[in-house]
Amino acid sequence: MESFDIAVIGAGAAGMMCAAVAGQLGRRVVLIDHSQRLAEKIRISGGGRCNFTNLYAGPANFLSANPHFCRSALARYTPRDFMALLKRHHVTWHEKHKGQLFCDQSSDAVINVLKNECDAGRVAWRTPLAVEQVRHDAEGRFTLDTHSGPITARALVVATGGLSIPKIGATDFAYRLAKQFGHKLIDTRPALVPLTFAPADWEPFSALSGVSLEVQLATGSKKTGAEFNEDLLLTHRGLSGPGVLQISSYWQPGEPIQINLLPEQDATSALLEAKTGTRRQIANLLSEWVPQRLAHVWLETHQIPAEARVADLPDKTLRRVGEALSRWTLTPNGTEGYRKAEVTRGGIDTRELSSATMMSARTPGLYFIGEAVDVTGWLGGYNFQWAWASGVAAGQACAEYVLGA
Ligand SMILES: Cc1cc2nc3c(=O)[nH]c(=O)nc-3n(C[C@H](O)[C@H](O)[C@H](O)COP(=O)(O)OP(=O)(O)OC[C@H]3O[C@@H](n4cnc5c(N)ncnc54)[C@H](O)[C@@H]3O)c2cc1C
Repeated sequence: MESFDIAVIGAGAAGMMCAAVAGQLGRRVVLIDHSQRLAEKIRISGGGRCNFTNLYAGPANFLSANPHFCRSALARYTPRDFMALLKRHHVTWHEKHKGQLFCDQSSDAVINVLKNECDAGRVAWRTPLAVEQVRHDAEGRFTLDTHSGPITARALVVATGGLSIPKIGATDFAYRLAKQFGHKLIDTRPALVPLTFAPADWEPFSALSGVSLEVQLATGSKKTGAEFNEDLLLTHRGLSGPGVLQISSYWQPGEPIQINLLPEQDATSALLEAKTGTRRQIANLLSEWVPQRLAHVWLETHQIPAEARVADLPDKTLRRVGEALSRWTLTPNGTEGYRKAEVTRGGIDTRELSSATMMSARTPGLYFIGEAVDVTGWLGGYNFQWAWASGVAAGQACAEYVLGA
């Protein structure tokens, strides 16, 4: 039987960070993962360049049934702290858009930093290794049954992530374990995911696959909904692009989404103004504002001839077009699911975890971190910042815990 101070299950973003911190505080840490390849989600993130944080990350960028939970860990480990870590390892980066930081090199640079940090903490690796069962005895020790024998530890950190992209090793392990120890779950669903539409509703737009433009998207009420100004991408089956991924995390099945295709101007006033002093065809005018292919399909779906002159169209018709452009209302019939979702919304209810340490309020020595818990970030580096911050909080706390256990 192998024995350690701390066992961390899941060698992804949060698990590696946590193991490195606890190991560097002098504890004997084992890091276990069932996958052959290390930190696959970091590798594929940010188009292979890992959008590793966001300069403006704060509690307002996260969804949770318990919105204040993430505050403490995020305040104690900030984007600057992770940037300082990369700098120590000579990894360089650039800002792309709205505070999103990407590696100049590839995502592998981030994986190597975490791996080297784990090595500096003498973390023992057990990969690929599947944990079949977790037992907790009267003395408070955890025993993990694995196919290569049992492993015991004083503290157990669960960092096995959410359900998105099962093809690269995502499982419901964290949720099952949480339930085993009496924790409640907040309903899970795919988030940061493309939205789909009933084939009949989408038929007129399916030919526009590949068209993209910057729009304003909104869904839900003022209290529970959200609004984003980002790019929209039309696909064969529906909508994708950064704006749609953002809104998907807030979208509730059955609810509509609203898209303002011309967020920079008042479409109705602009159309009415264009009536005077011009003999332009409406399709030509709209093509200045939105991609030409979209302008044509748009007019067709509103039964307005593309060659109609703006000056000849009644004000009522122009108002109808203007209103539709600034408030295109659509009701998705679903999402592309976990197969395409970047993250999982929901997860382990944080009301039974300590926000300072990530430790279970039910079982001393048991910690849950990263995407497995009900903290879901926006698109743009926020999810990794949560993984780093919750990993550091638990790493420091479990290192302290095992001294007294
Ligand atoms: C395509 C894609 C792109 C993304 N891009 C970005 C980005 O650029 N920026 C950003 O901030 N976020 C991004 N994300 C989200 C981000 O990758 C995750 O939020 C983050 O990796 C979560 O970290 P984690 O450590 O909690 O889980 P993970 O990184 O998913 O790690 C979980 C680990 O647990 C292991 N595991 C799972 N089940 C078991 C089990 N039963 N036994 C043992 N091990 C197990 C897995 O193999 C994995 O190694 C992206 C996600 C995807 C899918």
